[in-house]
Amino acid sequence: MSWRDLGACRGLDPQIFYPETDDEADDAKSVCGDCVVRLTCLEHALRYREKEGIWGGCTERERRRIIRQRRRSA
Ligand code: SF4
Repeated sequence: MSWRDLGACRGLDPQIFYPETDDEADDAKSVCGDCVVRLTCLEHALRYREKEGIWGGCTERERRRIIRQRRRSA
């Protein structure tokens, strides 16, 4: 079983996780907030540089910020 099988988004409309703007990401973030694999999902997106969508409760912009912060503190 993969971490994806345990995601709270499983079975939901994927469109929720691909909002047009960051301001429309609240529904997806709310689902991610209750997800038991949130950190695994986020690390996957950071590692594979997922460009679109909400992963681990973070927008692409938020993920870029995390990557920059990690680079600075490395
Ligand atoms: S953190 Fe969000 S996008 Fe990732 S598996 Fe969980 S619900 Fe799905």
